[in-house]
Amino acid sequence: MPEENIDEIIQEILSEEKKVEEGSEEEVIPPEELYECPVCHHQVYEDAKFCPYCYAVFEEDVDYKMLIETLIKKLKFMIPLARELKIPMGKINQDIKEAKKYAANNDYPTGYTHLQEAYYTLIKSIVDEYKKEMEKYEIMMGLNADIRSMYTKASEYLEDWDIENFVKVFNEMREKATALSRDLKAYLEKLESVENALEIAKGFGIDVSKSINVVDTSKDMADARKYQEAVKVLNEALTPIKDEIQEKMQAFLKMVKEEVMRATYSGNSNAKSIIKLVRELKFYWDEGNLVKVLEKMDEINKEMSK
Ligand SMILES: [Zn+2]
Repeated sequence: MPEENIDEIIQEILSEEKKVEEGSEEEVIPPEELYECPVCHHQVYEDAKFCPYCYAVFEEDVDYKMLIETLIKKLKFMIPLARELKIPMGKINQDIKEAKKYAANNDYPTGYTHLQEAYYTLIKSIVDEYKKEMEKYEIMMGLNADIRSMYTKASEYLEDWDIENFVKVFNEMREKATALSRDLKAYLEKLESVENALEIAKGFGIDVSKSINVVDTSKDMADARKYQEAVKVLNEALTPIKDEIQEKMQAFLKMVKEEVMRATYSGNSNAKSIIKLVRELKFYWDEGNLVKVLEKMDEINKEMSK
């Protein structure tokens, strides 16, 4: 291979590398252009006139009126949140009042000073409170990929003191987490009742292995955090043994009938409660609720052995 060709190829490879770098590195600011805000310790541009996080002023020639307007907008959003989070507002309200007084007299720098003080105190308390709130959801991260990514995003917004975006993502995450724990709870309750019904079925001599396979499928779904689907599967867990349940139930009811007749004859008060339970059993059988059917069979059994 001639040598110039090698040079060409190397050149092509190098130009590819440049493209790779351009594609992967999005707007990386060289560290020498950043410095730490002495007030809130966020990284800010060296030539910034004020801190975009805590609104501390670095250069005296800033537009104080504009800063006041920005801070008022931010405070308007934050005050209802502070109320919700039960943050004490005494000193903050005092500073806002002072700021209004100076601004009304066109003394914007002094007005700004009070307003920035109010803002800084409030945002620090809000961030601290929300950090505590976030801890409650840390455990949910492992349960769901959506929650995990929302948690990460919310944490980033909180670090940047971007309360508006934080609250949006945080509320979304909270809703999702609530729904998920509700679904999990529903699944666990369903699982418990199905497993209990299978124990009863076994007691009646029914082979429940087909149903156990269905329960295992639902457990796999629950492991994959698909709780709603898992509940749907559990709803059908007893279907494969329906015929057997029916067969045992018929034999059982024949026995119950004899028992009721005997109890009525001998003046035993059990008869009444057994009849009530049989009526309930019929209702659930007509409804196709096999879990409840088995529960009622169990209750009747217990009532008869009293
Ligand atoms: Zn700052």
